[in-house]
Amino acid sequence: MAATPRGTSPVPPDVRPRLTVLSGPSGVGKSTVVAHMRKEHPEVWLSVSATTRKPRPGEKHGVHYFFVTDDEMDKLIANGELLEWAEFAGNRYGTPRAAVQERLEKGEPVLLEIDLQGARLVRESMPEAQLVFLAPPSWEELVRRLTGRGTEPPEVIERRLRAAKIELAAEPEFDTTLVNTSVEDVARELLALVDVV
Ligand code: ADP
Ligand code: 5GP
Repeated sequence: MAATPRGTSPVPPDVRPRLTVLSGPSGVGKSTVVAHMRKEHPEVWLSVSATTRKPRPGEKHGVHYFFVTDDEMDKLIANGELLEWAEFAGNRYGTPRAAVQERLEKGEPVLLEIDLQGARLVRESMPEAQLVFLAPPSWEELVRRLTGRGTEPPEVIERRLRAAKIELAAEPEFDTTLVNTSVEDVARELLALVDVV
């Protein structure tokens, strides 16, 4: 029997990416687009991250995030319970590993909404993941959205805008870019990419 050289094993019949990462600068509209998509398609499974950030008004523990203390985050990291984690604008954020793995093992699509550093870590550990970048129609519009959201004080907005410049420059690293002009249009495009059928 001829040996199969390493790295040339047959490609499985279903090569559609099962894990999709959505990234983009703070304020571009990631949460808005995902919420819109899931209102129409609640079957799209979105990973709930852990964060040391304090909840914004209306955010619920276990729904928008698992809001954890610094000590709890230290433990999650030390115990290897996070698929990836990153510090963003003064807070730590991470993706709980078990829930994601469980779905991937069942062959179900998984959506992560995480920052650029997290997207890069996922690409390293799962090269088959699909990376989607959500871009603003313009820099001015991004500033308007982030400021208009009214959830952060001016110094935090400044910090997030500094991060946004770095994130926008990384757009070519992504497989696909969606420009968030219309929430409805982008939600539809994202749904097609996540490929929930
Ligand atoms: P992110 O999750 O990327 O930080 P949000 O979803 O919180 O961003 O959106 C930031 C602000 O921009 C919110 O006030 C939201 O209502 C607004 N927004 C999102 N998408 C659009 C859009 N296509 N047009 C106009 N405003 C938008
Ligand atoms: P926010 O504080 O606005 O909810 O999120 C700030 C940034 O952290 C956003 O870019 C968001 O996508 C990102 N983020 C949320 N959860 C995670 C996560 O689990 N890992 C990483 N790396 N980033 C995350």
